[in-house]
Amino acid sequence: MSEITTIGVVGAGQMGAGIAHVAAVTGYTVLLADADRARAEQGKAGIEKRLGRSVEKGRLSAEDAAAAAGRIRPVDGLDDFAGADLVIEAVSEREDLKKSIFTRLDAVCGPAAIFASNTSSIPITRMAAWTSRPERFIGMHFMNPVPVMKLVEIIRGLATDDATYAAVKALAEQMGKTTVLARDMPGFVVNRVLMPMINEAVVALYEGIGSVQDIDIAMKLGTNQPMGPLTLADFIGLDTCLAIMEVLHGGTGDSKYRPCPLLRQYVEAGWLGRKSGRGFYDYGK
Ligand code: NAD
Repeated sequence: MSEITTIGVVGAGQMGAGIAHVAAVTGYTVLLADADRARAEQGKAGIEKRLGRSVEKGRLSAEDAAAAAGRIRPVDGLDDFAGADLVIEAVSEREDLKKSIFTRLDAVCGPAAIFASNTSSIPITRMAAWTSRPERFIGMHFMNPVPVMKLVEIIRGLATDDATYAAVKALAEQMGKTTVLARDMPGFVVNRVLMPMINEAVVALYEGIGSVQDIDIAMKLGTNQPMGPLTLADFIGLDTCLAIMEVLHGGTGDSKYRPCPLLRQYVEAGWLGRKSGRGFYDYGK
């Protein structure tokens, strides 16, 4: 397999920008695309701001930050991805959208290019089958915020070959991450374990077992977690938590994964956590 030097990142949002940031600091040339050029440029501007903060904090030299920014090239769209050795897709979690992206990429990119998806919940095997290269298709599940979080969950689809797995594992390690290998089953490892815990914290609130504060303090101090599960749910977004529980529930058919009715009600009320100003806590927006 040829060496990876140019990485295409599709989606310049929270995750895509984080992936582009770390890839550029590591020394890769990054082609950054979003729905249009302006959004890709906006994504790069955000990365430059965060690189500047790393310089202020003494974590990165000004020269290295400038060199990293210089390696990120916002592009007009996927037609500019022909030279990418590997493409990491991090667009919104909508299956129809991801399908149109991968169909287009499959036509534009060279046959040796590897495709990776940062999806939290869509089966890798299903996505791989949309392309002509299921053996070079893999899941690369980064955690948020990407520059800070050390883990990348790698998910092999049914057809993913050993060379693709080895290349992507080496890339993630090059980016300073620790990898784990997960089977292509609903939730992979992290969300399979984390989301039922968060859902159960909502059940504890729903059943009046404890207050929001007491549930969070109990789990924080009683199990040594950096933040309580309801604080974490607000941070992730309650709509995202609900969507992942629905994937676990639907994908396994096991009733133990049913989303708590209170979680659903919060989402219906528009109380989505930090991003909407209110979730289990009030952020005063
Ligand atoms: P986000 O909303 O911050 O970013 C999504 C980006 O996709 C936006 O910039 C949007 O403009 C772009 N987009 C929409 N349509 C597009 C198109 N046609 N072409 C190109 N770009 C388009 O979302 P996010 O949190 O960065 O999530 C992205 C992916 O990462 C999702 O699959 C999500 O499940 C996964 N993920 C998220 C987290 C998290 O904690 N946020 C963690 C792990 C994985």
